[in-house]
Amino acid sequence: MTKFVKCEVCNEKLSSEKCSFAVIRRVVNGEEHLFCCSACADRYKKKREH
Ligand SMILES: [Zn+2]
Repeated sequence: MTKFVKCEVCNEKLSSEKCSFAVIRRVVNGEEHLFCCSACADRYKKKREH
C-alpha cells in the first residue's frame, strides 16, 4: 500500500513511503506540514509567518 501526501504549496502528489526522504517536513506555528521541496516549505513559511 502506497500512501500519498500532497505538497501544501503546489499540490504535487508525493509518495510518503517510496520517497520519505524527498518529502520535506517543516513545523510552522507548531504544526507539521509536508512539502515536495525546501523551496515550497520556505514559501509556505513566509506566507504563514510575518
Ligand atoms: Zn511543492
